[in-house]
Amino acid sequence: MAEAAVSPLRHLPSVDRFLRHPDILVLVERYGRAETTQAVRETLAAVREEARSGVGIDEAMITASVLSRLAARAGPRLRPLFNLTGTVLHTNLGRAILAEEAIAAATDAMRQAVSLEFDLAGGKRGERDDHVRALVCELTGAEDATLVNNNAAAVLLVLNTLSQDKEAIVSRGELIEIGGAFRMPEIMARAGARLREIGTTNRTHARDYADALCPETGLILKVHTSNYRIEGFTAEVGARDLAAIAHRHNVPLVNDLGSGTLVDLSRFGLRKEPTVREAVEEGADLVTFSGDKLLGGPQAGFIVGRKDLIAAINRNPMKRALRVDKVRLAACEATLKLYRDPDRLAHRLPTMRFLARPAEEIRQQAEHLLPVLADALGGDVVADVVPCRSQIGSGALPLDTIASFGLSLKPEGGGRAVEELSAAFRRLPQPVIGRVAEGALVFDLRCLDDEACFRQTLLSLRYGGS
Ligand SMILES: *Cc1c(COP(=O)(O)O)cnc(C)c1O
Repeated sequence: MAEAAVSPLRHLPSVDRFLRHPDILVLVERYGRAETTQAVRETLAAVREEARSGVGIDEAMITASVLSRLAARAGPRLRPLFNLTGTVLHTNLGRAILAEEAIAAATDAMRQAVSLEFDLAGGKRGERDDHVRALVCELTGAEDATLVNNNAAAVLLVLNTLSQDKEAIVSRGELIEIGGAFRMPEIMARAGARLREIGTTNRTHARDYADALCPETGLILKVHTSNYRIEGFTAEVGARDLAAIAHRHNVPLVNDLGSGTLVDLSRFGLRKEPTVREAVEEGADLVTFSGDKLLGGPQAGFIVGRKDLIAAINRNPMKRALRVDKVRLAACEATLKLYRDPDRLAHRLPTMRFLARPAEEIRQQAEHLLPVLADALGGDVVADVVPCRSQIGSGALPLDTIASFGLSLKPEGGGRAVEELSAAFRRLPQPVIGRVAEGALVFDLRCLDDEACFRQTLLSLRYGGS
């Protein structure tokens, strides 16, 4: 900026006078009087500080500062960003990206009145679960189904309904903790169930279950060890055998699948996970799974299985506190419908599309983004295309990684400089989140969908001061 343009103000104008400034009046029109007054007040206070330290100040700078304060306050705190961490279902970054069909259904439901609990054929009250029940049963082979806030809620509700003041039998090898506060023993306590731990961490046998069964037993719970695997000298009882044991004693078997996929993932080049249909076929009386993990929908928890047990769950007053709203219900229905056409799933469902992306396609994308990124960064950063491994995330296939490619950025100056570089990417209008490893910031491009937007974002990158 030319020096002449800066004419230091002798005296700062008052807040009132500044609010009559034509440029500020435009802001009052756009952001409202209260917000603008606040921003002017804050700006003048900051300017007063700077003026004391001898910084030249002019009116244009003050209006620009007021504008940026207002814009920052008006923008969302929950910000869209680029997930280039390499973890496809990143819990902290909101897990599954919804299919366009689900987004459209959700927006329609937001905008209009819907037949949420209204039976259009009969003209009387209906049930919200009706909109997905038949579809879920068709896709899983289950007799009945219900939907709640998330899978943690599904597990809580099932335990409370079937084993309050009773014992719930679980193998010690399956007493999981899944991030945050979801620890199976604590969930059980809150559900009012008494945990009956059996077996050992690495080995649990059929006789352990049989020995624990008693008139106090409410259910047997099998839990998918989502985020770890016990290997070596191990033994567990398969769901089919467990179902036989449970049914001999007339207690239900509940299988918490966690991620719960509806399709055989090997068709997308991943290791096969047990599907919900298989869990139902193996004889579980109830199966629970998440909506926003491998299924690729909105946050939700599905409970599928025996009609009488689902009816009992629906009579539990807790169900009302854990139910889903019309927006997510609409998104769930639309997501599930995509599963009727598995051949096009990898095309229509972003989660599947990301997981199925061939490494070679990602490498090519990395190659042609490399010069763009190098250009945006300037000479102090060494940028390269590197092979890397993506993770599925959210406790699905914990030890499996998928071959991928990324851009590795190595700034001069080592660890500290890497941290500063990743902070600079986090400050972008649409932040870019990567992974720091071995002195480099790595962007795994597996989940980079909107390349044009990414290029645009890089334009506003100012690393190393402007
Ligand atoms: C993820 C998971 C849960 C919790 O599911 P949310 O949808 O995150 O509430 C429960 N059990 C298992 C086995 C899981 O993997």
